[in-house]
Amino acid sequence: MPELPEVETIARGLRKRVPGDTIEDVWLSGKKPTFKSKPAEIAAAISGARILAVRRMGKHIVFDLERNGGPAGERRSEPERAKRKRKRVVSHHPQWIVHLGMTGRMVVCEADEPVVKHTHAVARLESGRELRFIDPRRFGRLSVESAGGFEAGGVEPLEVDRERFIDLFHARKTPIKSALLNQKLVRGVGNIYADESLFRAGIRPRRRASSLTREQLGKLHGAVQEVLREAIALGGSSISDYVDADGEEGFFQLQHRVYAREGEPCLVCKTPVKRVVLIGRSSHYCPQCQR
Ligand SMILES: [Zn+2]
Repeated sequence: MPELPEVETIARGLRKRVPGDTIEDVWLSGKKPTFKSKPAEIAAAISGARILAVRRMGKHIVFDLERNGGPAGERRSEPERAKRKRKRVVSHHPQWIVHLGMTGRMVVCEADEPVVKHTHAVARLESGRELRFIDPRRFGRLSVESAGGFEAGGVEPLEVDRERFIDLFHARKTPIKSALLNQKLVRGVGNIYADESLFRAGIRPRRRASSLTREQLGKLHGAVQEVLREAIALGGSSISDYVDADGEEGFFQLQHRVYAREGEPCLVCKTPVKRVVLIGRSSHYCPQCQR
């Protein structure tokens, strides 16, 4: 399942390739449950729109689009035109939001590349290339929003400052691991990166967030950012694997220090790594290094 660093890598790859290009038209499979917005609504919003930017918000890829002109309107009376113009500010900057789910992929390819099985969206670009969304297991979601309407919830872990991060967690009665996975607090930190961050911060996953000192939470803030940045840096060299059609499948992996290493010696103190289940998810930690 792509986690934040993988989604960031894909968004960066797309950002190098598609901004400035225009989506001429789009084909959508219409298959449920891929389409969170109605396929007709997506087609209407993105067809004819120019891609201004591509960015990541949490684990979503967001295409910021711009639509020029628009139908009719030109011969309308002055007040009517002004009214339409105001409305246009919203509807002429749609956002196309892609959530990759477990197996979703976004590729940029030449139009004559064969369309592979499980392709759910093909956006034909003015440059002659195509932007395709492929998703065998269909946990991915496509939707559109108007003008900055998309809210990913929570704070962005790579942008939130130390104090704000501490304030988010210090009064929480839940285990710190659960709080880290709570998307309403911080968006996009998944199971692997939560375990790795807690290890680096020396905090056990089951510790109540409220029992941690501000200093410990500050350390965790640093660890979360460090782990995510390292993983993004690792992915940087393999961007083409994710967005070029002939790319390999599968994601790069950070060298795990605790995640999925149950019973193996801790890389720091050699104590066997422990596993506990918290809110239905496996958590891995070193009983010696983490307190
Ligand atoms: Zn250890």
